[in-house]
Parts: sequence; C-alpha cells; structure tokens
Amino acid sequence: MTARPLSASRVPVTARPLSASRVPVTARRFSVSRARASDRPVAVLDLGGTWFRAGVLTGGDTVEGLRRRPAVTTRGTGGPAADVQRLTTDWIVDTLDELRAEWPAPIDLCAVSLGAAMDDRTGRVIGGAPLFGAETTDWHPAGELAARRPEVTWAVLNDVSALAYALLKDDTLDQSRTAAALTVSTGIAYRTIDLATGRIPRDRRYGLQGEVGHLPSRMEWDGAQVAADCDCGAPGHVSAFASGRGIEGVLHRVPASDWGGDPDTAATAGVIAAFGRAVAAGHDGARRLLDAVTAPLAEVLLAQTCLNPQVEYTVLTGGVVDGLGDPYLASLRGNLGRLGLYGISDRDPDYFAPRIRRGPSDGLCALRGVGIHARGLVDGSEHTP
Ligand SMILES: [Zn+2]
Repeated sequence: MTARPLSASRVPVTARPLSASRVPVTARRFSVSRARASDRPVAVLDLGGTWFRAGVLTGGDTVEGLRRRPAVTTRGTGGPAADVQRLTTDWIVDTLDELRAEWPAPIDLCAVSLGAAMDDRTGRVIGGAPLFGAETTDWHPAGELAARRPEVTWAVLNDVSALAYALLKDDTLDQSRTAAALTVSTGIAYRTIDLATGRIPRDRRYGLQGEVGHLPSRMEWDGAQVAADCDCGAPGHVSAFASGRGIEGVLHRVPASDWGGDPDTAATAGVIAAFGRAVAAGHDGARRLLDAVTAPLAEVLLAQTCLNPQVEYTVLTGGVVDGLGDPYLASLRGNLGRLGLYGISDRDPDYFAPRIRRGPSDGLCALRGVGIHARGLVDGSEHTP
C-alpha cells in the first residue's frame, strides 16, 4: 500500500525493499470492480493467534477444503520470532501444495492473511503480540513465499485489512459508504475501508491504521481500577481488558462468585466459555462484568463516531464476539448509548444500533476477504494494493 490514498484510477508506485530472495515484486493497483466480479479460485490462508486456517475460495465465495491447525506462536514454541516465521512459511508452502494437489482446477493465486501489524507499503511485518509476543520483527513474507513457489502469484495482507475487504461483498451494507471491520479475538484491531473504491486509509509514513487494541484505556470493577498488562508489554491498553486474553485475565482476577463462575473453572483456560454461559443465563454479575470489559471498546468507538461520521458501519467479528454472541453486541451498544454522542443520542437513542453490527460467525471472513482482495490486484505478486 502506498502512503497516498488509493483509488481505482491511481497506480501506486512504491519502493519495496528487496527481500533476501531478490524476487522482483512490482506494486499493483487494486480494482474494486475486478475484486467484486472475479470468480478465480484462490488458495486462502489465515494466520491468527489461535488457529492457522486454510482452504480454497471458490467462484461462489465459499471456502472449500477447509483445514486448520493450532497457531505457531512464540508462546507455543518458546523460541524467538524468527523461528515462528520460518515454521509459518513452511506451513504456508506445504498447505498450498496440498490444496493445489487436491483442487480439480489449477490454482495460481495464493492469498495470506496475517494476524500481525504490517507496514502496508512495504509488506514488512513489524510485530504482532498474539504471534510474536512483545518482540518487534522485520519480516518480509511475500518475498520469501514468492521465492519458494515462484509460479504462484502471492498476496500477503494484514488480517484486519482482509476483514475490511470482505465487506466489499457484504450486500447488507450500502456499498457507497465507509465501513469498518473490528475484530475482537485473541487481540483487537480495527480497519476502515471506503466501500466505493476499496481504499483503506493508512498512515503516510508508517502504513498503519486502526491498531485500537493498543490505545490507552482503563477498567473499573467493584469501585476499583483493574490493573492489567497488554500482550505488547504496556500496561492498561484496550486489549489488556477487552481482548480474549484480556477478558480471560480479568476473569482470573475477579472473584468467580461475582459473575456466577465456579472457582475451579475460573482458574482454567475454559473460563471464557464458563463466563459466556453465565452471560447467556442472564446472571446479573456476569452481565455487569461484560459491560465492564466492553466499556474500553465502547469508548474507542464513541470517539471514532464523533471524529469520523463517514464510517457508517462497524462490523464485529472474532472469537470473543462469536463466543459471547448477541449479549456482547447488546453490551457494546448499551455502553455507547449510556456514554452518548453529543447532539445526537438525545434525539436518536437508537443511533448506534444499525451502525454497530455483527458479521458472519463462521470464522472465515478473513479467508474470504484476503481472497477477494487478491482477485482485485491487477498483476504480479504483491503484499497489498
Ligand atoms: Zn498493547
């Protein structure tokens, strides 16, 4: 991605550092009409902090041949990020080979969604707490992959950008507006996209947008501040309270009796599922605790709505949203309504309801989005449009 706004009519020319493989990669423009119209099969892979998933995006935009394995992470291997990157590259190539062998038609396009912060102009991966912990990275996966399988066209994209591109084919959204993808899973991130052009605005110098999980935040429970560190190492970020790992940490700190939990379960990895059951059963303490952990995100979305009213839809996906379901959405909207948007909420109490919504809960949105994005790139291997 260039530092400049992209549109279908602008051809970005970006300087891309040569990878060790020296595979020449030229920047390509992204065509939203091509992305919507193409039915080309794409091998699609999504590397998240919990699961690595893969399959083939079909002409009908279903994902077939779906497979998954537990994510390779620094937490799991106990080694440095470089080891995780090497193992990840091997898995991507092996999985692509399997998919191509099994698919009845040739596949020459492979799209990878990566759960890490990327400089989208260069394809450089700078870090990603769920995969790499607190370590900063300097990884250029697109070049490495193109060197391993040069006959395939590669597209590597941040996973939240992939979720944003999936919105280009969501016919419940007015496609002349701007929308945002918000994922709440192991980590939290956010991305806006102009649906008419497919343009994702990014920082001119660093290529980033929407790393809202790492904004400063706070959380209160039982009249006291809850102290928690983010996966990135900093104290009190939004993710420290509101991400899957953040909520798990909160549930370990708060007495289980406060939310109707069993003290034995509260100390285990199954604590979020137990919390979800208490929420679904309508336990008063569980509902209040849910409101406490959605409040940090509600504050971010309130500020965003105030500052950028062009964003008409915020579409939530991710394991936390899917696991806690409609009560999660109701809690987030409820917090937004209580906080209130000056000049609007008093006249329109339901202002947030159509704007804050859930996306599909099949966990495949990033796979679809990264494939849709890859179809819209005009030619040559590239990391982003
Ligand atoms: Zn953080």
